[in-house]
Amino acid sequence: MIHETEIFVSPEDAGSEEVLKSIASQKLSIPVKSISFIRILKRSVDARAKSVRLNIRLRVYVGETPAQLEKTSEMPDVSKATPIIIVGAGPAGLFAAMKVAAMGFKPIILERGKDVRSRRFDLAAIHKQHLVNPESNYCFGEGGAGTYSDGKLYTRSTKRGDVNEVLKIFVNHGASEDILVDAHPHIGTNKLPQIIISIREALLACGAEIHFECRMTDLILKDQSVKGVLAQVSGHSREFLSNQVILATGHSAGDVFEMLHRQHVLIEAKPFAMGVRIEHPQSLIDSIQYHCNLTQVEKLREHLPAASYSLVHQSEGRGVYSFCMCPGGIIAPCATGPEQVVTNGWSPSKRNNPFSNSGVVVSIEADDFKHYADQGPLAGLRYQRALEKIAFLAGGQTQSAPAQRMIDFIEGKLSSTLPETSYQPGILSAPLHELLPSEIGKRLQDGFKAFGTKMKGYLTNEAVLHGVESRTSSPVRIPRNKETLEHIQIKGLYPCAEGAGYAGGIVSAAIDGQNCAEAAVRSARPETIKR
Ligand SMILES: Cc1cc2nc3c(=O)[nH]c(=O)nc-3n(C[C@H](O)[C@H](O)[C@H](O)COP(=O)(O)OP(=O)(O)OC[C@H]3O[C@@H](n4cnc5c(N)ncnc54)[C@H](O)[C@@H]3O)c2cc1C
Repeated sequence: MIHETEIFVSPEDAGSEEVLKSIASQKLSIPVKSISFIRILKRSVDARAKSVRLNIRLRVYVGETPAQLEKTSEMPDVSKATPIIIVGAGPAGLFAAMKVAAMGFKPIILERGKDVRSRRFDLAAIHKQHLVNPESNYCFGEGGAGTYSDGKLYTRSTKRGDVNEVLKIFVNHGASEDILVDAHPHIGTNKLPQIIISIREALLACGAEIHFECRMTDLILKDQSVKGVLAQVSGHSREFLSNQVILATGHSAGDVFEMLHRQHVLIEAKPFAMGVRIEHPQSLIDSIQYHCNLTQVEKLREHLPAASYSLVHQSEGRGVYSFCMCPGGIIAPCATGPEQVVTNGWSPSKRNNPFSNSGVVVSIEADDFKHYADQGPLAGLRYQRALEKIAFLAGGQTQSAPAQRMIDFIEGKLSSTLPETSYQPGILSAPLHELLPSEIGKRLQDGFKAFGTKMKGYLTNEAVLHGVESRTSSPVRIPRNKETLEHIQIKGLYPCAEGAGYAGGIVSAAIDGQNCAEAAVRSARPETIKR
């Protein structure tokens, strides 16, 4: 017999199977000896009350053993099948490719960046020499922007697809099964590259093609239909042909938006968000969230994860909110081109760095970028890039970031000293209160004050703002038909995931990749049958 039950346990007891079985037996009124196996279905930290507890949903097996985790669908040999082109090997592109192959078509992936291992050298060059390779960086390369990230895997877009299927695919490629049960699953930067390699190997084994250092420069279009793409490979232009192209190029590829505009493929400016990345000592966030003093924190952390937060405030009709919080994390330099300073964050699987960082951003609307109206659909992109250039200049024209202590920022004072930071290229004191446009700066000041009342201790000069957090979502939408997922004018073109404005985060990008793959296969099938 199988039962399901929900229990609360102290952090110390949560790791003991004996204790979990004993509590479950009492809750279900069954002898503990009759329990043959327990499986954790969901686990979350409940820090609302004074003493922190873990809320665990258990499946309890009485005289039975659980089935093994089922394997996700196998991919057949597609080496000679009809090709479908996928541009971009981020989460959207890779999950699209797996779905295309599982449905019997041959994915041809074109990726401007390098394979995941070679990418590491280019990341080191950003940290140490302040050199940004525009083709290989934190955003471009195998695995996409999600690879050297926190690997947080929660999403609100559960209606668009099967989140569990995506998580199972990650587990089948080496992620811990914990991601299937944790309320806020995450993988960690140290583990993601190996998972990406495993996905690549599975794709190559079934006959998919993957071309690295292969940058799409043009779409091949005829009579409002796509016929393939032109790409730069080793200094030469090469054609890749297919009647279906999935465009999964992410939101940092400004050149892709420029190319579409130049080729008269309809794109639209859309609202997005920008702000700063804020860093606190992790012990401070732990002590606030777990209601204890700094000396008690260390003991508690033996059993609890680094604490996180999620904050939101309305200021003058706009949202100010925390975004992509990385407990025990590192702030990353995420520029993709010259004269840009862009921040984001990541954390290792253990989330054991002494800092906690989070983007704190303000919604940006068309009214904010009206000065760039002559740029048409690229107006938001221009506004975003202008702010990244301001950060570059204020940071000393390197990858150092302009920074300011939190209370100094609110009081409009330049910080005379700055504390230690996790941001490896370094920080330079700068008047962010003056440098940020008022529609962002004033609202951030309001937001930080409000956050300080919601989380006592959050508002402190120990916290440092790093400028600028500008790549939260795409400033451009590539419009597509809701049913067919095809571009509204170009047949066979599938604008996909974050870059096209239909996803935000690893899991939702992966799901959108799968949905676009299914749509592309649906439209490719009639031709295959004709042949
Ligand atoms: C440092 C960092 C940390 C993050 N942390 C998290 C997190 O913890 N959890 C989370 O859910 N999200 C996180 N994100 C966001 C997440 O990475 C993105 O939402 C996700 O990667 C979007 O997936 P995508 O496939 O749509 O695009 P991307 O991942 O951006 O992939 C697009 C790919 O297309 C390639 N490309 C671009 N132009 C071309 C071209 N012309 N030709 C060929 N290839 C091209 C790029 O090189 C890239 O590999 C983080 C992002 C960053 C930068």
